[in-house]
Amino acid sequence: MTKQPVYLDYQATTPLDPRVLEVMMPYLTDKFGNPHSVNHTFGWEAEAGVDLARKQVVDLIGAASDEIIFTSGATESNNIALKGLAYASYPEKNHVITVATEHSCVLQSCRALEKSGFSVTYLSVDEKGLINLNDLEDAITPKTSLVSVMAVNNEIGVQQDLKKIGEICAAKGVAFHTDAAQAVGKIPLNVGDLKIDLLSISGHKLYGPKGIGALYVRESLTPHPLPLFDGGGQERGLRSGTLSPALCTGLGAACEIARQDMEKDFEHISGLSDKLKQAILSGVENVRLNGSETHRFPGNLNFTFEDVRSDQLISELRHIALSTGAACSTEKPTPSHVLTALGLNRRQIDCSLRIGIGRMTSVAEIDYVADQIITIVNTLKQQA
Ligand SMILES: *Cc1c(COP(=O)(O)O)cnc(C)c1O
Repeated sequence: MTKQPVYLDYQATTPLDPRVLEVMMPYLTDKFGNPHSVNHTFGWEAEAGVDLARKQVVDLIGAASDEIIFTSGATESNNIALKGLAYASYPEKNHVITVATEHSCVLQSCRALEKSGFSVTYLSVDEKGLINLNDLEDAITPKTSLVSVMAVNNEIGVQQDLKKIGEICAAKGVAFHTDAAQAVGKIPLNVGDLKIDLLSISGHKLYGPKGIGALYVRESLTPHPLPLFDGGGQERGLRSGTLSPALCTGLGAACEIARQDMEKDFEHISGLSDKLKQAILSGVENVRLNGSETHRFPGNLNFTFEDVRSDQLISELRHIALSTGAACSTEKPTPSHVLTALGLNRRQIDCSLRIGIGRMTSVAEIDYVADQIITIVNTLKQQA
């Protein structure tokens, strides 16, 4: 069909929307001012771009402009939320709760906290990838400062019940952080409705540029996180360093587009996802969809093809860009901690494949991919 490879790795990163690039370009050329320069028009011009971007980001999640700070990405946002809040709450509170299936930057931040003497509870998930809300309630103690539960899982697309989690945290007076890198701009998320205190965003997961993210910090949250490094005191003292107006305006434009196109995108992605899922489930034997069928973002399909190793499958699917799981862990030979937490054994994990569908995916691509996967899986099965 196509000579161009088909991109189906939208959880690793999304293409930059051309509308976003258009907004960014002037800030990479003529509008080069430092947004923190207050004495001249070059600074003001850059600052105006950053201000608008901030408004566009908060509008997408129902926050106010002074409630977000720009960061370098969701990794940094998660580090500030977890470590910054843990440090700020110490010594009165020294306990943090998270989930076994979180992104590695959340889990590694928790490991670092443990090394500094904090205690961390890692909630397990059921075979669908969902936490048990009673377990969460039971884990909260008077020493707990923070609960961190991701919105949409990057490997299996499972969506936790943020509303119920937010209610539990609010009732217990514990801060609620969510890593929403895979959710912002894809599904409606309102920090007020969901009682979220801290929320992490990544630009390059919602058709914006790489190297930018944001952290929402509820104004009324006490204490606020402490900064992780020192400097000029930008971003309300929480994140020093000169902002990049090009990256900020890119993230802002990506959020604005996502707000306007969210329903349309969701319908498009759900349609393609259903089509591909049905084709694969009916075209291949002994295949399972990993994670809850109902509580999931449809743009993420994670399958286990019995007896077909995914590394072999991926190399046979030459014109399709796919991945077995998190991009940041592909160099490590360790099996996915997410699939392990679902109860899959090593053999099943080695036969698992993630398919990411997004805004730019076409019907023709999905038809091609369905046909290719079914043909190659069945060929490899015969050889097995
Ligand atoms: C991509 C991703 C991150 C890391 O975001 P960066 O902006 O690349 O640092 C964190 N959490 C989740 C769930 C992600 O998908």
